[in-house]
Amino acid sequence: MKPASSRAARRRAQKGNTPGAITVADIAGRVAKAKVKGAGKPQEDRAKRILTSFLQTAQTYGMPVSEVVAEMASGKAAWRLGHAVRDEIMKAPPEAVTNAACTQGCAFCCILSGGEGGVITAFEATQLHQAASPLAGQPDGRAWHPEACPALDPETRSCRAYEARPMICRSFLSTDALACESNAAGGTEKGAGLLGSHLDYLVIHALCRQALKGITQVHSYSMAATAASAVAGDDTETGLAKARHKPSALDTACRDAVRAAQA
Ligand code: SF4
Ligand code: SF4
Repeated sequence: MKPASSRAARRRAQKGNTPGAITVADIAGRVAKAKVKGAGKPQEDRAKRILTSFLQTAQTYGMPVSEVVAEMASGKAAWRLGHAVRDEIMKAPPEAVTNAACTQGCAFCCILSGGEGGVITAFEATQLHQAASPLAGQPDGRAWHPEACPALDPETRSCRAYEARPMICRSFLSTDALACESNAAGGTEKGAGLLGSHLDYLVIHALCRQALKGITQVHSYSMAATAASAVAGDDTETGLAKARHKPSALDTACRDAVRAAQA
């Protein structure tokens, strides 16, 4: 069955009294059966529990199924749930947080070696593109380092899209800035990594994609390509079309994040 467009899915979802129309309970059933390549059962089960609790809350408060589908498809659901987990972690911050060397103007982590910059959702790509678009025509991060994020200020080395920065930028931290500098140049120093909430966010988004198969399409995007398109002056629709990943990118990101968490 050819996947329907988001608009078509919303139309279907809004026909709440049509026989065969999807319900939030149907989506919860799909989540229960979904599999995420490379995530491993413990992480998959954990992400299912978090996403199922979101769906139960949506049912309790009578959230229309069209909104549930739209939030899951855009990545807003993964974003919200990832943030909720992050907030929990921050109530009793681990040593990686309390000993973090991160300061304003330290931007080796904004050097996106390989040109990808990490997997982001449609929700994040839209926000980042809109925040970075007014910077078109100005010197960007690549004036400091050829592989730096275009949203970076090349003089101050601070993020010029701070409020719109994706989850990966909010999750990455390090206890050693020199290790970050070395790793940006291809090194493999220890000390830098992602908060555990990032893994939850990625696997939840991958579960959303599996659960919505045949209902609507769920994409992921390259952060670097999204920011580059914005400062090149593209409109958001064009920018997202250029930055859209192949489906395998999300599976690879989940697998890599699980391996990093186990290292
Ligand atoms: S993650 Fe590394 S490069 Fe980024 S702010 Fe922290 S110490 Fe600096
Ligand atoms: S969006 Fe901001 S924080 Fe993230 S890589 Fe780009 S400049 Fe750095």
